[in-house]
Amino acid sequence: MTARILVVDDIPANVKLLEARLLAEYFDVLTADNGQAALSICDSTQVDLILLDIMMPGMDGFEVCERLKGNPRTAHIPVVMVTALDQPSDRVRGLKAGADDFLTKPVNDLQLLSRVRSLVRLKTLSDELRVRAATAHTLSIDHALDGAMGDEPGNVLLVDGRGSSQERIVRALRPIAEVACMSDPQAALFHAAESNYELVIVNANFEDYDPLRLCSQLRSLERTRFLPVLLIAEQGDDQMIVRALDLGVTDYLVRPIDPNELLARSLAQLRRKRYNDRLRASVRESIELAVTDGLTGLHNRRYLDTHLKLLVDRASARGRPLSICMADIDRFKAVNDTHGHDAGDAVLKDFANRVRSAVRGADLACRYGGEEFVLVLPDTSPDMALVVAERLRVLVEEQPFLLPGTAGALSVTASLGIATLSHDGDTPGSLLKRADLALYEAKRSGRNRVIAASLPVSHEMALAAPALSTSAR
Ligand code: GH3
Ligand code: MG
Ligand code: MG
Repeated sequence: MTARILVVDDIPANVKLLEARLLAEYFDVLTADNGQAALSICDSTQVDLILLDIMMPGMDGFEVCERLKGNPRTAHIPVVMVTALDQPSDRVRGLKAGADDFLTKPVNDLQLLSRVRSLVRLKTLSDELRVRAATAHTLSIDHALDGAMGDEPGNVLLVDGRGSSQERIVRALRPIAEVACMSDPQAALFHAAESNYELVIVNANFEDYDPLRLCSQLRSLERTRFLPVLLIAEQGDDQMIVRALDLGVTDYLVRPIDPNELLARSLAQLRRKRYNDRLRASVRESIELAVTDGLTGLHNRRYLDTHLKLLVDRASARGRPLSICMADIDRFKAVNDTHGHDAGDAVLKDFANRVRSAVRGADLACRYGGEEFVLVLPDTSPDMALVVAERLRVLVEEQPFLLPGTAGALSVTASLGIATLSHDGDTPGSLLKRADLALYEAKRSGRNRVIAASLPVSHEMALAAPALSTSAR
């Protein structure tokens, strides 16, 4: 794992020490000896993680952290505060300033490296999402950060073998979360997979059950993969903590539990979870927008191009039939010319609705361009494709299209060409080409009809026979 880490400390010896340890693990290391310098480095270069001293002359670590977290350009960079102060109140103050973690001097090697690895891993995930969301323009990054937490209480699952500690934890988290408690780890795993928790707290105090098993299972299940896990471990059980972090546990706390630290760490996890969820939703939304036609809401050509290949490959691999139908509105230019562009748009929307009602859920309906539509019909024989296309043709012809305002209604017809996949080296391109030729033939022979291309073009030429058969009308 390579990552660029910024070490900030006013004492050169401390900087050197951390730098040497990180370089030995092949991290890329930058250094700064004061807060201002740290801020300008973060502003001008890509930094993946910051190890930040608290006690520094001028701007102290708390202020540096607050400024980093208050700036949308740097808010996502994880900050680990490194301090000689082992006072719980300082930890809480740091977490409130937005710090993601703490290390106490002298820094324990194992903790340093597992902490750094775990935070870098989390950041890599957020980064990927941020890049994808940034290309989307649907939800700006600043937006996703703004009130990432909001006022909604967090939804937390506590897995804890003892009733007394359950009570204390529920009380400590009351200001920010609703906590459900379970004492059976296996039951908790299934429950977590079926519910929508935002954080799981695992208190490692079970009679005879290894809490790391639950942590690892939470990481491997699809439904709980992105669910943060906060482990509560025994003071001094460094080995368990390091293994837990390696397994992907997101944070830990040691007993005796400081209620303020528990609150602050849980809040940090809930914030990050909501931030990542929003990024993920924004990516999904942008993907949908990118493959959807704005006017009709059908899939667009870009989607067809990628998805048709997938459907063709699947049909070929399984030896299943697949047909496509290309439909084009007849004399559509005249609709625009006579009634205006808005009337044309209304006809296109209504046409798309009729396309939707003519196909099954498993079929793919796309606006291929202007007034041209493509239907992909998996598991559909040529005969069945004829029936579907004919159904659409009738749906269009039967009911006049309502025009906007007082313009009345308009009779519209469409021409359709269909083609069926040949399991003989046929490609999406050649399949579309045959449907297009069939459509052209439907136009040429009088419009408002369905024509089926019976054979792939290569066969057609070899046979020198008419490859088009007429149906309908
Ligand atoms: P044919 O029966 O041979 O298909 O004739 P046609 O008039 O339908 O075909 P042509 O390709 O000549 O014209 C298509 C028209 O569709 C031209 C273009 O202005 C119009 N068009 C394409 N996209 C849109 C759109 O999004 N909205 C509107 N209103 N019109 C569109
Ligand atoms: Mg200092
Ligand atoms: Mg047309």
